[in-house]
Amino acid sequence: MKMNDKILARVEINHDRMVKLVSDMVKIPSVSGNEKNLAVFLNEYCTKLGFSTEIDRHGNFFAFIKGKRAGKRLIFNSHLDTVEVGDGWDSDPFSGKIDGDKLWGRGSTDCKGAIGAQIIAAMSIVEAGLDFSGEICLMYPVEEEVQNVSRKGTYLALKDGFTGDMAINGEDTDLHVCLACEGMLEVLIITHGVGAHGATPQEGKNAIRMMCRVIDELEKIIPGVNKYTGSGAINPGIIQGGHRSSVVPDTCTLKCSRFTVPGETGELFVNQIKEIFARLKADDPAFKAEVEMTYESNPSIVDEKELIVSAIQNAHAIIGKDCPLMGTPQHDDADFLSNVGHIPTVLYGPGTGLLAHMPNEYLKISELDEAAKVYALTIMEALK
Ligand SMILES: [Zn+2]
Repeated sequence: MKMNDKILARVEINHDRMVKLVSDMVKIPSVSGNEKNLAVFLNEYCTKLGFSTEIDRHGNFFAFIKGKRAGKRLIFNSHLDTVEVGDGWDSDPFSGKIDGDKLWGRGSTDCKGAIGAQIIAAMSIVEAGLDFSGEICLMYPVEEEVQNVSRKGTYLALKDGFTGDMAINGEDTDLHVCLACEGMLEVLIITHGVGAHGATPQEGKNAIRMMCRVIDELEKIIPGVNKYTGSGAINPGIIQGGHRSSVVPDTCTLKCSRFTVPGETGELFVNQIKEIFARLKADDPAFKAEVEMTYESNPSIVDEKELIVSAIQNAHAIIGKDCPLMGTPQHDDADFLSNVGHIPTVLYGPGTGLLAHMPNEYLKISELDEAAKVYALTIMEALK
């Protein structure tokens, strides 16, 4: 049997094991900050497969599978944690129930499906006795879902010196090969007015009205566009101001997010807001406002000529599927892998981002099968 047929046949033989693995992972709740039970489960699972494993000081799980020859390290990254369950579920969010082509539960799409497909892909290569160079590294960090870069497991591991030669960030990309992800920023804007009795508003300066003018100006900023991710976005998300309706409010705060495309930075956005302030102050000398960046993560991008890109393209050619090069509007750990670790990183995984973080999250098992095949073929293409 030809090598590629051998790989595909082996992944198919492992279908039931893969579905059970993902279902078992969904049954282990792992909301951010509580990933330990899942890390311990994976540690046992991968140790039994003969992989060498490690849980680092942050709680991140790693497994390593060495080839027979020296070579590059290919990292498969996904994440242990899920967002909280939230309301609106029709059944147990940790059931891991399988119903036709659907596997239900929190974390099925985001991102335990990718973990299952990656482990089974590596296991299938080993079981098929195939010779590859270098090393496959499975990296499943904690706290990918928290909005705080300094707690994110991938970032912390890279800061500790973890590295590799290329990576696949297994996020729920609808099986699209994505060469870029968007970054996410959050700014806090505060307008300062002057309080007065609401019956004599001319005696004060209304901070909410000032913020309305700021928002009107924010709407005029045209977000950047990238050929993979499409357009970035600006979203005024939380606004607060005033204490009672009969009083002129003296402060108003706005939290506004911005989704950035490759080439855009937080500094750019803050400068654009400061220009808005200057314009509004030129119009009205009493205008007073400040801006502070409260969260900053960056977009990722990988060059089309990188080995990891051609490897995953070749994997698609082998299964006879088109491989348009796309991008994702989500922010993912590809940011840290490429910007902190300087590791060329492609995003690719089963599941749809539309179901992530929502009630009644599910994963299509047919997508899981395809992802495992693509991951396994990519290993052999990248680590020839
Ligand atoms: Zn995810």
